[in-house]
Amino acid sequence: MDSSCIQSTSSPFDCIVFDLDDTLYSSKTGIGQALKRNIDDFLVERFGFPGSQAPTLRAELFKIYGSSLVGLRSLGYDVDADDYHSVVHGRLPYDLIKPDAKLRDLLQTIKQRKIIFTNSDKIHAMKTLDRLGIKDCFEQIICFETMNPNLSKSTTPVVLKPSMEAMKTVIDVAGVDPRRTLFLDDNLKNVAAGKALGLRTVLVGKSIESIETDYALETITNLVQVIPEIWFSEEDDQRISHTKNEMDSILSATAVSA
Ligand SMILES: [Mg+2]
Repeated sequence: MDSSCIQSTSSPFDCIVFDLDDTLYSSKTGIGQALKRNIDDFLVERFGFPGSQAPTLRAELFKIYGSSLVGLRSLGYDVDADDYHSVVHGRLPYDLIKPDAKLRDLLQTIKQRKIIFTNSDKIHAMKTLDRLGIKDCFEQIICFETMNPNLSKSTTPVVLKPSMEAMKTVIDVAGVDPRRTLFLDDNLKNVAAGKALGLRTVLVGKSIESIETDYALETITNLVQVIPEIWFSEEDDQRISHTKNEMDSILSATAVSA
């Protein structure tokens, strides 16, 4: 953390925790669709479910358990996590994810600690961050393996967002004060779980009003307009009164000099 930065020390946030998929890149890339297809294939190939029923089963597992892997194991299926990830993530068309220079510039203006918190496995997180060109913007990646360090027997429950245990993992592993930590995620259940543990929350992808979230953004690039206090103190009336255009010019100037 760059503690020499006056802006970050006067911000109400010490740390920004980012979900990865559908938060730092758009669900419209096609990756989300491919992921769903891969889960369907996994259900068919490994467990012999009829192909026509796989999409419905997948949707139900997601609705009830938050992920297919958690759902299958909860229902007593012996699913090897590495095998699951090798199919569901390993077969993704990663070339659909393009470098995002604008996002990189935005992240580099944020001087607080920045942490990735994803349900995905580490290989997927690293590949995706690499494709986006932002791998070096984060001090820590908290992922599937972090939440499930001793996963072996099929009976071991899988811990993932939105479980409270998963949310507690991020607070403990990152060593953050939840009241001074901003948590961004595209899944309202994850956001609600974070809020229940005292994190300041941001729903990404939908600008809706909800008691479960402190802020909502259409896309990650709206961060500057919606939460300028990441950069500036809430008490600092002069800075907080910067207009949207002034903030934009600060960001683009930083981008040019980077
Ligand atoms: Mg997500």
